[in-house]
Amino acid sequence: MTNLARKIAEPEDISSQNEYIAYSKQVHDYSPAVKKLLDLSEDYVPGSERAFKAGQPAVWCQANGYQPVLLYALGVIPVAYSEMGRYSAREDMLIAEDFYQFPVETCSMVKCTVAQWHKRRGTGTIDKILGVASSCEPFNLAWEVMRKHGYDVFSSEVIYRGPTVEGERLEQLVKFTVEQMLDVAEWLTGERRVDEDRLRFEIARKNRLLVKLKKVLELRRTHPFYMKSLAIILTLNVGLNNYFGKPEEYEAAIDELIVELENTPVKEKDLKAVIPLVWAGGTGQEFGIYEAIDQAGGALLGLRSVPFRFYSEEIEPLESIARWVYDNSTAGAGVYARNVLDSEVERLKARGVILYGYIGCSFASVDREMWRRFFHEKGLACINLEGSFQTGAPTGQVLTRVKAFVEMLAA
Ligand code: SF4
Repeated sequence: MTNLARKIAEPEDISSQNEYIAYSKQVHDYSPAVKKLLDLSEDYVPGSERAFKAGQPAVWCQANGYQPVLLYALGVIPVAYSEMGRYSAREDMLIAEDFYQFPVETCSMVKCTVAQWHKRRGTGTIDKILGVASSCEPFNLAWEVMRKHGYDVFSSEVIYRGPTVEGERLEQLVKFTVEQMLDVAEWLTGERRVDEDRLRFEIARKNRLLVKLKKVLELRRTHPFYMKSLAIILTLNVGLNNYFGKPEEYEAAIDELIVELENTPVKEKDLKAVIPLVWAGGTGQEFGIYEAIDQAGGALLGLRSVPFRFYSEEIEPLESIARWVYDNSTAGAGVYARNVLDSEVERLKARGVILYGYIGCSFASVDREMWRRFFHEKGLACINLEGSFQTGAPTGQVLTRVKAFVEMLAA
């Protein structure tokens, strides 16, 4: 586990994403649980690569969705490739553009990920990539490129449920997705089957953690500043989906966090000062944005990307996962996600919504513009940010916009 020797006095001294995490640990000096969660986040990719080299199967996959549940049941560590963003820099963009000839306007997330895989070729690290063709076209291209350059890539077919799909058509989709999961099992283990007991265990673990994280979010409403923005977004958007590759340690840290929050007295002055915000979009890799939110008095109390739907434990486990996929707001039109956002805003009495996406993502920018218009028409303040995936300090312009937005809400 990485430990930075130097102590960071001010956020302005920070020069890398790992230093933001180190700084966040300093800020949360009062909370062993938050520090453990940050440790887990910091060690997610390196720890998984170490485990792979020691003989544990591991695969690069999506950060969220059903994949981690299935992979843990197959005895494989799910390693979210999006977490490599924090190790990327401008050099990675150039590798993707010059070596792989990706067009300059391609989304920075795809270019950075491709470059990180490029740098790992021939190093004896994780060499399997599990893609899903439901996300975006640039990633579909990335799978093909990586396959040609030595990776073992499996990409499942598009998972999409249109707003009117019900009945027999929905049943066909569920069956189709079950077959796709069996394809994944065969690719990884050589056997076209998944141990039902292990899958039931993973589904139960996921449901249990969803309950625990809902509790954390409820407790944060009365302790809005206990867990700062970077720590909560990593814990929810990443950790809740894949447990940072260490499920038991993640759950133990969450249990500890709940005990800490329950035993911390409520501070009335915090409740008066807080500006409740809802975050919609990906996990921004420019960690300075979270610092800017904290400094301006904001608190990310609602996060749209977190899938809080439960998996059914009453039906066959593979079918349960397939139905979860099609019931989830991510499978379908952006209007579903907007409804989730809207209910979060109402529930938390949020004063503003921060929409975040990556430069070059035409896919998500349409949704964000639609949501922004919806909230403006409702009279709610909303900011639409575009950031870069490669690390380095966020541009002064983005930070100024974030601070000005939160301060405007406070005024
Ligand atoms: S940010 Fe957009 S274009 Fe980039 S990988 Fe994600 S969905 Fe695809």
